[in-house]
Amino acid sequence: MKGDELRMETETGSSIQATEDKPPGCSEAQDDWKWQLRNSIKDIEGLKEKFLLKEEDIDTLPGVIKYFPFSITPYYLSLIDRGNANDPVRLQCVPSEKEIALHLELQDDPLGEEKDTVLPGLVHRYPDRVLLTLTNMCPVYCRHCTRKREWHKGFWVRTSEELEKIYSYIRTHKDIRDVILSGGDPLILSTQKLDGVLESLREIDHVEIIRIGTRCPVVLPQRIDDELVGMLKKHRPIWVNTHFNHPNEITKESQAACDRILCAGIPVNNQTVLLKNINDDAQIMTRLCHALVRISVRPYYLFHCDPISGTGHLRTSIDKGLEIIKAMRGFTSGLCVPTYVVDGLEGQGKVPLQPEYLISKGKDCFVLRGYKGEIFNYYNPED
Ligand SMILES: *Cc1c(COP(=O)(O)O)cnc(C)c1O
Ligand code: SF4
Repeated sequence: MKGDELRMETETGSSIQATEDKPPGCSEAQDDWKWQLRNSIKDIEGLKEKFLLKEEDIDTLPGVIKYFPFSITPYYLSLIDRGNANDPVRLQCVPSEKEIALHLELQDDPLGEEKDTVLPGLVHRYPDRVLLTLTNMCPVYCRHCTRKREWHKGFWVRTSEELEKIYSYIRTHKDIRDVILSGGDPLILSTQKLDGVLESLREIDHVEIIRIGTRCPVVLPQRIDDELVGMLKKHRPIWVNTHFNHPNEITKESQAACDRILCAGIPVNNQTVLLKNINDDAQIMTRLCHALVRISVRPYYLFHCDPISGTGHLRTSIDKGLEIIKAMRGFTSGLCVPTYVVDGLEGQGKVPLQPEYLISKGKDCFVLRGYKGEIFNYYNPED
């Protein structure tokens, strides 16, 4: 990890000593995303200093973080209510001994991403779009991350040679009209490096849209600065997908970050993961989706938590997800209701699920259930 930290420092062009001349608590420094990264908590000592180390975790945590390291930005840390052991932000970023509990149903790569990897860094599972993993580094390592299998092997950024091969694959596959930059968090790379990637993709005529999957608006809103947004704007149409999981994450800083992206003509959508004791409640989910729409961010997907090793303690039943959608659909604006999806195993793809609204299907009559629960007939005309 050390080497990669160094690489990240060079990526962002900052020097390691720079922390010393910036007094902690200086708000100008805290507004700088590189300051946030340099001052992130990454070890048990740091957790202890911030009163986030539980007595019962002291013995097991070194083993947990060897396999599943962590990192928390000072900004994201500031959202935690330390008096609450089950604080929803805390549960997402502070490692727990529960991550190494034995769950036989869990695997490292149940979705078969490695099987659909056509080149290092490129997953081509669906006909018209590809997922490009630019790095596996993130500002905060979410405890529920679907790619946490990779962390213990070290952190990396795609090399120019790997990228050239990826561009060439996309160039020769004319059906690819949508490229999703993912990771890790692509926005952890320097603006200059990202500019180069976007420029190369834009040179390919059949690439219609580029999506960026990033949690920076939520965990490192300082990253969304004028320089970044000015650069992204040149490469439109770009769509940003971010990842808010709880209403406590919607702050004036995260709102301002989304606003800067939106004002550049880049739509922002949200992908939430359904997480036990964090957002597995219809009221919390409704509050989250209302708050998202208020900041002009559209709830896109609600993901059922994948069966990934190290996430067992955060998974709920599928019934819980269906119950939440049932409590939202019809009772609040359709714009606030995300599509609930389960990602199929071994590359089967995302499967949308919803509560039963179709009771039965006759030749010329459908029996439907309305959102309030009444059952009624609906005449089905012939084609
Ligand atoms: C989720 C996903 C996509 C994008 O799917 P959409 O439904 O278009 O948002 C693309 N590739 C892979 C491998 C994915 O997992
Ligand atoms: S931001 Fe996304 S890729 Fe990064 S740790 Fe969180 S879930 Fe994983």
